[in-house]
Amino acid sequence: MSQGLTLYNTLTRRKELFEPIDAAHVRMYVCGPTVYDYAHIGNARPIIVFDVLFRLLRHLYGTDHVTYARNITDVDDKINARAARDYPDLPLNEAIAKVTAATEAQFKADARALRCLEPDVEPRATEHIGEMRAIIERLIERGAAYVAEDHVLFSVSAMEKLPRMPAYGSLARRSLDEMLAGARVDVAPYKRDAMDFVLWKPSKAGEPGWDSPGGIAGKGRPGWHIECSAMSWKHLIEAFDTRIQCDDAERNVFDIHAGGIDLVFPHHENEIAQSCCAFGSDRMANVWMHNGFLQVEGEKMSKSLGNFITINELLETEKFGGRAWPGAVLRLAMLKTQYRAPIDWTVRGLEEALANLKAWHAAEGIGEISPSDVPPEGLVAALSDDLNTPGAIAELHRLRKAGETAELAAGLAFLGLFDPATYGPGASAEIDPDLHARIDALVTARSRARAAKDFAEADRLRDELTALGVVVKDNKDGTATWEIRE
Ligand code: AMP
Ligand code: ZN
Repeated sequence: MSQGLTLYNTLTRRKELFEPIDAAHVRMYVCGPTVYDYAHIGNARPIIVFDVLFRLLRHLYGTDHVTYARNITDVDDKINARAARDYPDLPLNEAIAKVTAATEAQFKADARALRCLEPDVEPRATEHIGEMRAIIERLIERGAAYVAEDHVLFSVSAMEKLPRMPAYGSLARRSLDEMLAGARVDVAPYKRDAMDFVLWKPSKAGEPGWDSPGGIAGKGRPGWHIECSAMSWKHLIEAFDTRIQCDDAERNVFDIHAGGIDLVFPHHENEIAQSCCAFGSDRMANVWMHNGFLQVEGEKMSKSLGNFITINELLETEKFGGRAWPGAVLRLAMLKTQYRAPIDWTVRGLEEALANLKAWHAAEGIGEISPSDVPPEGLVAALSDDLNTPGAIAELHRLRKAGETAELAAGLAFLGLFDPATYGPGASAEIDPDLHARIDALVTARSRARAAKDFAEADRLRDELTALGVVVKDNKDGTATWEIRE
């Protein structure tokens, strides 16, 4: 590696040189979506930003030496409420399965349209209930959790009494009083202390429920935070060395944990408390990264303000700026701002991103190039400075001006922005962006229909695609890719 990678660490509030625990197994966990509704454009920010980090790590350490896990939260009260609303005639658990399957397929289609690589693992919460139960049992054993009225609660004050534990609140850097005031922590009669949080709660008949830990007789379901402690341990620690014991303090740590800035408290603070107390280490992950928030045309995005916009609406409808936007335009617009700064999502920004993509793809001969896997040095240098994507984009402009077309193509490809078929002149498959977006929309709708087992609709959509000369290939994970028939 010619230069070091520096990353801003929320834990220390500083940019630090990144040093992996094991350069042969660099490990990163990003908190993923709760699958009850379309992802909005704010949710696209961590997906895109940490995809760039994933690409950079693969370049620096080797494709086979990086593991990226991003979870799917498929158990949550918001999911239950949505399922009951959308399928009032179905038993709740069947309705939930429909909502989560369709939303997960949609999320994956969105991520693919945004030209993100698939993470190595996308674990689902409901497939890790056993691991969650084991961690909860361990927390009870160590005195860091207690059972009350069929709930299991994490005891914040007990954490302080265990050896080596970080202080609760050290990631958020807030005092207990501030945390109590800021997080509107639920006060419940069964809590010993207002700060204590739920690890497990009882389920009523008909609600999703699993055998409970802690000797509780009835069925129950996990609280919000425990799934990430369980899935990160399973896929980033145990998967690499099954000999690692739960109390092997030194080895129960992975490299990077990331998500949006709103997750610092309480979600990440609580993940740290759970993992450290269960596994005995003083850290859960070495580096904590958080993307800043996205607002729309200068205002906080919210349904009540009418400026709430989903990734899918941007890709498929004319709701924002009077046209549908190809995924690479959304991706570039997102990367123009460094990930920690707030971003203002505007029509103007999308128009500029589209113009940039066209200008880059107008470079002489770029349509005939198949870009090398080696990104230009200047681009790697910019990204290695805490993901300085504006710097990386400036480098693309410089390469275009300097006529370094092969380097430009490699840089575009590295950032997931190389697409002469859509943006270049005189390319073999002259697909204009509108047609491209239309095809993406049809392919996505078909994947969604298949996930919902609506095969008649899926077949109808395939016929429509065939009529456009498009061949669709279905992947094992329920997603699909397409190409224009030669
Ligand atoms: P949620 O579905 O709300 O848990 O969010 C999924 C991911 O998107 C988390 O990493 C959030 O921090 C992130 N996120 C949610 N809203 C925004 C926003 N407006 N801007 C940037 N990131 C966001
Ligand atoms: Zn999480």
